[in-house]
Amino acid sequence: NADTALYRAKAQGRNNFQFYAVEMNAHAGERIALTGKLRRALKNDEFVLQFQPQVDIGSMQVVGAEALIRWHHPQMGLVPPAKFIPLAEETGIIVPIGEWVLRTACLQARAWLERGLPPVRMSVNLSACQFRKEGLAGLVARTVEACGLDPAFLELELTESMLMDDPNSAIATMRELKAVGVRLSLDDFGTGYSSLNRLKGFPIDALKIDRSFVRDITTDRTDAAITAAVVSLAHSLGLTVIAEGVEDAGQLECLRQHGCDEMQGYFFSRPLSAEPFAALLRAGAVCT
Ligand code: C2E
Ligand code: MG
Ligand code: MG
Ligand code: MG
Repeated sequence: NADTALYRAKAQGRNNFQFYAVEMNAHAGERIALTGKLRRALKNDEFVLQFQPQVDIGSMQVVGAEALIRWHHPQMGLVPPAKFIPLAEETGIIVPIGEWVLRTACLQARAWLERGLPPVRMSVNLSACQFRKEGLAGLVARTVEACGLDPAFLELELTESMLMDDPNSAIATMRELKAVGVRLSLDDFGTGYSSLNRLKGFPIDALKIDRSFVRDITTDRTDAAITAAVVSLAHSLGLTVIAEGVEDAGQLECLRQHGCDEMQGYFFSRPLSAEPFAALLRAGAVCT
């Protein structure tokens, strides 16, 4: 849909910025109204997190949770991130929203650990705004500390466009984050402009293959070949590879054959609220 297209345009960087800006100007009144609503939403505690399981392909055990924000609007219902994250980024409200996401995800991870559930990583999406802002590593360090969470359980998801804008300062920020002890992953890999060659310069732990490659992996030889190449290169750099958007058994089988480490997608589970996610973890633990 149009919102997704806008979001992608923005996410894909400067080349598309004009298109994005023109579209947004066409709805200036709506934008101002929405900005106010987002501010109130934060104050009124209207945001919630859902968690999508990340599964080890070898053992089929849940090894991670990706925190995904939703806006529980009193009238509009559950609003997906594509409808408000782009504007939140543009207006900078994403910064306090992002801090809320980080804190809430860390508290949740700690709560699951305390209940004796099998330990899983918690992945949090960072926005470009947050990543560029001075003091990110300090914020992350203080947050995990305040939540009583071992930073090794926290993974921050970055995107290629965040790294390619100014690779040197991005690398400096990533090194600071690594010094805090968190994991870093590269989200939506393959949709941006970074070359495979650039990857070796980034201190990342994992690479997430974008779902646009996974979608036709069983029928499109090019997508299958790209996936195979990405997996083997990533492994040679010591990175974990996770496939996004796995929707059926055929895709999973194909990824397994290509040596992909982990998967995430509707085939295993849609994003879940905290309690169903905990139940899933508990059920998994019983099986072993
Ligand atoms: P993402 O980080 O790439 O997250 C994966 C998206 O794919 C999620 O959409 C998820 O629900 C969806 N998905 C997972 N499995 C499947 C599948 O099998 N098929 C299909 N078609 N979709 C699948 P969601 O939750 O709507 O989030 C969209 C994007 O919004 C995220 O993409 C991320 O870029 C952004 N986002 C979500 N939460 C946050 C947040 O807390 N902070 C920031 N900055 N961005 C966020
Ligand atoms: Mg993500
Ligand atoms: Mg992604
Ligand atoms: Mg994506």
